[in-house]
Amino acid sequence: MTDYFEVHERDGAARLGELRLAQSVPTPALVDDVDADTPGAVHTVLHDAGGRWPSEPDPPGGDDSAVTILPHRGLPAGTPDEVAEAFADDYPDVAFPSGAVVSPTTAADHAADVSVLSGAPGYVGYGSAFVNALTTVKKAVPADTALYLPGVATPRNVATLVYAGVDLVDPHRAVIRGTEGRYLTTDEAYFLEDLAELPCACPACQQPRDGFDRTDCVEHNVHALAAELARVRRRIRDGRLRDYIEGQARQDNWLTATVRIMDQRYGYVERRTPLIRRAELAATTEDALRRVEIQRFARRVTERYVPRFDDRPLVLVPCSARKPYSDSQSHTQYHDAVQWRAHIVSMTSPIGVVPQELELTYPAQHYDSVVTGDWSATEVEFVSRVLERYLGDADYPEIIAHVPGEGYRDICERVADSLGREFT
Ligand SMILES: [Zn+2]
Repeated sequence: MTDYFEVHERDGAARLGELRLAQSVPTPALVDDVDADTPGAVHTVLHDAGGRWPSEPDPPGGDDSAVTILPHRGLPAGTPDEVAEAFADDYPDVAFPSGAVVSPTTAADHAADVSVLSGAPGYVGYGSAFVNALTTVKKAVPADTALYLPGVATPRNVATLVYAGVDLVDPHRAVIRGTEGRYLTTDEAYFLEDLAELPCACPACQQPRDGFDRTDCVEHNVHALAAELARVRRRIRDGRLRDYIEGQARQDNWLTATVRIMDQRYGYVERRTPLIRRAELAATTEDALRRVEIQRFARRVTERYVPRFDDRPLVLVPCSARKPYSDSQSHTQYHDAVQWRAHIVSMTSPIGVVPQELELTYPAQHYDSVVTGDWSATEVEFVSRVLERYLGDADYPEIIAHVPGEGYRDICERVADSLGREFT
């Protein structure tokens, strides 16, 4: 149990929290060493009590104005596991806000408020290495400690870092890139000399292009990082970080890989994802089919849900753009025609199948998809699989498919073939 970090809200693995120092810091936050000379957008709340090479330091002191990173032995990325274990640090239980430096090998419950992931530059840039390191550490440390990833955040990657479960980042990489003459935005790392105009309106960029030098570039990079982090906090508060990530992660391939690999780690994301939300779920990419809310609904409909109306015929109908479906003109007509003589089930991408009595549940009533009239092969495959599993457990005497167009028809024919059942 930590005294100085509290999680207030979750959106998948991303969290909105608070470092409860003398002056409270909302997380995810941009933090830096109290002795560092960093621009105003950064909370200077870290204090590094030093390394344990080559000699043992005195026990650290600290107070609630800053998080004291406890003395540790820094090991280079790629240190063999047995060496890392042999040199694993023991951290004292101290009475002030503290941080413990951990690696995927040495992460454990250290009774610290902040876990500092060492060697982060070795993982960042590689989707599976990053997700492996992060999920290993997150499983090993208590859920109520903040995870700090030093030296890696940029305006382009920070949304995905937070999406994966990072609570604290620093401006070091944005500063270094600026001194190298790289102008960072949420989509690119431009060579400063290639920019004829500055694509930003932050205070550092409020000057003629001619006078803008690398010092200004550093200041801009940190502003851009802070602004992106503020946007991410807003997205978490609204429960809509995933919708943003599906677009933002496209700006760098390793970020897209990270999002997809996390979708494959269903258990890690699922246990951290709220069961219901009020926010709309925007299904605009194929990746949306793999997001936890969609997969969870499909699992529940095919594994837990027991059809209670399968003593009468099943009528399969298309979904409607208006939610709940029963408010739409088409579904009002279906209901008027069918009454209660059959069980109405809607077919939809990306949700799969929605039995009539579940249409008010999350996310059946909350999603909005892009309607072009065409179904992709992945959508046909997904909805077919859900429908097939749904029908596998039901006992309808007759199946009537009242569906238009190619996609719906393809699905019904595939499922009819594979189950050996006649669809009317
Ligand atoms: Zn700027």
